[in-house]
Amino acid sequence: MQSDTGAKHFKNLSDRADWRWQMKHRIRTVGELRDLIDLTPEEEAGIRTSAGVFRWGITPYYASLMDRSDPQCPVRRQVIPHIDEMEDDIDLMAADPLEEEAHSPVKNLIHNYEDRVAICVSSECAANCRFCLRKRMTGSGVSSLKRKDFQPILDYLSFHTEIRDVLLTGGDPLSLDDDHLAWLLMKIRAIPHIDIIRIGSRYPVLNPFRITPGLCNMLAGHHPVWFNTHFNHPKEITPQSARALDLLSRAGIPLGNQTVLLKGINDNSHTLRELFHKLVTYRVRPYYLYQAQLLGGTRHFRTTIEHGMQLMESLRGTLSGFAIPLYVLDTPYGKVPLTPSGFRGRSGDYVTVQSYRRHIWKEYNPLPGKKG
Ligand SMILES: *Cc1c(COP(=O)(O)O)cnc(C)c1O
Ligand code: SF4
Repeated sequence: MQSDTGAKHFKNLSDRADWRWQMKHRIRTVGELRDLIDLTPEEEAGIRTSAGVFRWGITPYYASLMDRSDPQCPVRRQVIPHIDEMEDDIDLMAADPLEEEAHSPVKNLIHNYEDRVAICVSSECAANCRFCLRKRMTGSGVSSLKRKDFQPILDYLSFHTEIRDVLLTGGDPLSLDDDHLAWLLMKIRAIPHIDIIRIGSRYPVLNPFRITPGLCNMLAGHHPVWFNTHFNHPKEITPQSARALDLLSRAGIPLGNQTVLLKGINDNSHTLRELFHKLVTYRVRPYYLYQAQLLGGTRHFRTTIEHGMQLMESLRGTLSGFAIPLYVLDTPYGKVPLTPSGFRGRSGDYVTVQSYRRHIWKEYNPLPGKKG
């Protein structure tokens, strides 16, 4: 009975439309989680054994979407540690599969394509997604770049006149407060050869109250600003997240979405079709579907690339072209579309793909049934 009262109390608070309150009250203990769901032994062991390896924390809002009794709940699986995380090759936990650090001419800036760069402006996120590509940043210490840390990055952008497009990523760039972000956008806008600013953020999914009229108004002052968010499951599209998307699009910001293909969460055509269709309903264009990267603690989330391609095939014709994202594998040579033109075949546990510059990349992608 105690826990029912706790859950009811929580239910009222999960709706608190204050992003800082949501951040401050993130769920970080087994006790709090037990009030909300029937925690399984596998989840509890995951929490215990991942401590100090990859941290966890969930906003009350996102936690309110969890199913109390179903351990396969797609929301639970994305944010609650699981013992399966620790059965993987843990040495890969801090890995950098895209060799982003090798493509960093200055710290926190990745220059991998001629005309565009990505800047990791904060290692903080609204929650810690268990499949995160940038665990090496988001997994332990939390920090956002200070104004002085941006100076070498701004100098690099000014000097490299071939850069036209700047993508703010992380962690999550919306972990910066509005004033800090406004300062950064003002500095970037002062560089004449930069045409496009893009923001990649999961706040609309994990803490939609971050998107306020004030933020949207500020962003609109720096147009053209594009925004990519990260919905992985239709259950994540709620009245609160829909409101965040509506505020952004009313500010004239084109919205895209990047989804990670996750085994047991969205790797079936029914779920993907519903997700992509719903996104379009909220004026969000599905942009990329990412193959889950080879990264420590994520083997239980990875599908074969053939399965991903079959899913994409199954969507063709049943959704309009603009509701279908491009299925890609990110490699140190850039994103490679997983279509017959990028896919070159399989040899044993390895799949070979070819990049737009004709680089050959071998991806470890074992067939089911083998331990590897
Ligand atoms: C994905 C990515 C970009 C942006 O690529 P688009 O295909 O233009 O969206 C830029 N830089 C890096 C390092 C990236 O990984
Ligand atoms: S919000 Fe993005 S960067 Fe942050 S933990 Fe989730 S996937 Fe990683």
